[in-house]
Amino acid sequence: MLDLLLLNDELSDDQRSLQQSIRKTLQSPKIKQQVIEAYRSEVTPREILQTLASVNAFGHNLNGYELKNYDAKTYGLIMMELERLDSGIRSIASVQGALVMYPIWKYGSEKQKETWLRKLSKAEAMGGFALTEPQGGSDPSAMETNAKFSDGKWTLNGKKTWITNGTFADILITWARTPDGIQGFIVPAKAKGVNIQKMSHKLSLRASETAEVTFQNVELSSEDILPLAKGLRTTLDCLNQARYGISWGSIGAAEACFEETFAYAEKRILFKTPLTHQPLIQTKFAQMLTKIQQAKLLATRLSELKDQNKIQPVHISMGKSSNVEMAVQVARTCRDILGGVGILDSYETMRHMCNLETVSTYEGTHDIHLLIMGQNLTGQQAFARQL
Ligand SMILES: Cc1cc2nc3c(=O)[nH]c(=O)nc-3n(C[C@H](O)[C@H](O)[C@H](O)COP(=O)(O)OP(=O)(O)OC[C@H]3O[C@@H](n4cnc5c(N)ncnc54)[C@H](O)[C@@H]3O)c2cc1C
Repeated sequence: MLDLLLLNDELSDDQRSLQQSIRKTLQSPKIKQQVIEAYRSEVTPREILQTLASVNAFGHNLNGYELKNYDAKTYGLIMMELERLDSGIRSIASVQGALVMYPIWKYGSEKQKETWLRKLSKAEAMGGFALTEPQGGSDPSAMETNAKFSDGKWTLNGKKTWITNGTFADILITWARTPDGIQGFIVPAKAKGVNIQKMSHKLSLRASETAEVTFQNVELSSEDILPLAKGLRTTLDCLNQARYGISWGSIGAAEACFEETFAYAEKRILFKTPLTHQPLIQTKFAQMLTKIQQAKLLATRLSELKDQNKIQPVHISMGKSSNVEMAVQVARTCRDILGGVGILDSYETMRHMCNLETVSTYEGTHDIHLLIMGQNLTGQQAFARQL
């Protein structure tokens, strides 16, 4: 029903069977119930990390080190299936794959790659990405966390906030100001001086745990620095991997809302007729279907540009902002069509709707991505004051 433009006809047999098998695993009643419980309790079930590893949710767009090296569209399809389940679960995988494994794979030493990549891909170790600080996520150049080198060792001090996976991470890819500019470190979560506090009472992304992390005179060796990661450009390169995944993932959340709501509306008899037969409701479903299909066309084009090495940050900004906005609107409309039952957690639409508020904010807010596009159009950067 959702494939009006027959985009699935363009999938290879491998892509189709991978997508189907991931959907079968993640949409099982057991996993869906685990997510409902996780959302209620704000505790990520640790067994789901193994499930994610079993469907190759981590590090699948990288090569070597026994990793699956899928093409960009296959990576997108995996993100879409993860977010069809829950944006928080997709976030766990995005952080592990795009923001922990990718920087180690691209900017790490051979020893770091050998030590971590295989383990991370199998969920034998988990990681977090510590960039955001309390003084403002949209402006990472205001970073205060710093690392100083003396007597053959680094000393790290600072505070990071909103760190996905932080509560159960073994390592934190941590960005800090050094005399040579901003650099990345692999910080063992159990190192002396690292303090990790769970952030509770979120009203969004509750199945994904989030942490505040402080570093107080944390001693690191020169082997803990990512040797090739220099400057904020490196950080943004990592973020762009995750943002590309979000442009696909958000379609999964939107499709889940659409399917749940359409099935409900077909059976809901009001004024002696199924809700789907009402003109106003048909119009809403037609508009949502169009938006979802447009988003998939955009994501598909991004995957082609990515595989051809032609993708630019501005393309990813268009994909992230436009597709997440589409999903926010679809989820909101579906919630409305569901009426009262739409606020029950036995229906998934409102969970997706609340999750998507975070997805719109993190990995570059909706407006910051539009401003990146504005800069590309005009040559004028409108979001950072020129000092
Ligand atoms: C659940 C969750 C998980 C997260 N996970 C991680 C993680 O794993 N690692 C990590 O490092 N970070 C993470 N983040 C942080 C996230 O990336 C930041 O929340 C995001 O960058 C926005 O930063 P902020 O919350 O400080 O908002 P602010 O930067 O304070 O922005 C507030 C508002 O101001 C607007 N704004 C900002 N600048 C401008 C401007 N120049 N012009 C116009 N409008 C502007 C923004 O669009 C926004 O609407 C997570 C956040 C959440 C909520």
